Amino acid sequence: MGEQVSPAVVAGREKPDVWGCVKCAQLGKTCCQQREIFVTAGDRERIAVHTGIRDFWEYRAPADPSYLDQDDDPVWLQSVFLPDGTRPVLTRKENGDCRFLGPAGCELPLEVRPLVCRLYPYEYTAVGIIGVSGDCPSQVVPPGSTILQVLNMRAADAVRWHRILYAELRAGKESFHDSGTHIRSAG
Ligand code: SF4
Repeated sequence: MGEQVSPAVVAGREKPDVWGCVKCAQLGKTCCQQREIFVTAGDRERIAVHTGIRDFWEYRAPADPSYLDQDDDPVWLQSVFLPDGTRPVLTRKENGDCRFLGPAGCELPLEVRPLVCRLYPYEYTAVGIIGVSGDCPSQVVPPGSTILQVLNMRAADAVRWHRILYAELRAGKESFHDSGTHIRSAG
């Protein structure tokens, strides 16, 4: 499914052998530096309460048109996009990094991060979690381990976050219009 992104790992920098997102950052750009991050109305409210700011998102059309090819998840298609093809995403720094990516990883607490960030690298539809993305490079996973173990992801958390995500999606498009201060962009 479209724009999912891994939480940048903050632990492990002091270790000679690092794995997961820290290792990924050593190899090249991480998903926190490349992906457009969709934010639900709930995400926007949680982040606004935590940060005290509201200008951290904008409407933008997907840079990758293949993102619209999601016939397996009509709930996503119908709930995420406005009629003009845009959807609310986090703004990014000039270098393309997510605006919340700091030198030690994501600056947002786990339970405040966008739900799609928390769920990555799980793949899912409205029905439930259907697998794990193969996008993470194999070099970031030590022998005998899995990416979910490296990221310390618990299945129970993923199920809970998935339930919240789709509840917020189904809550309705009117929530997209809860702020008049955001930037609207066709980018
Ligand atoms: S909100 Fe955090 S985890 Fe999500 S893309 Fe930005 S830095 Fe990465």
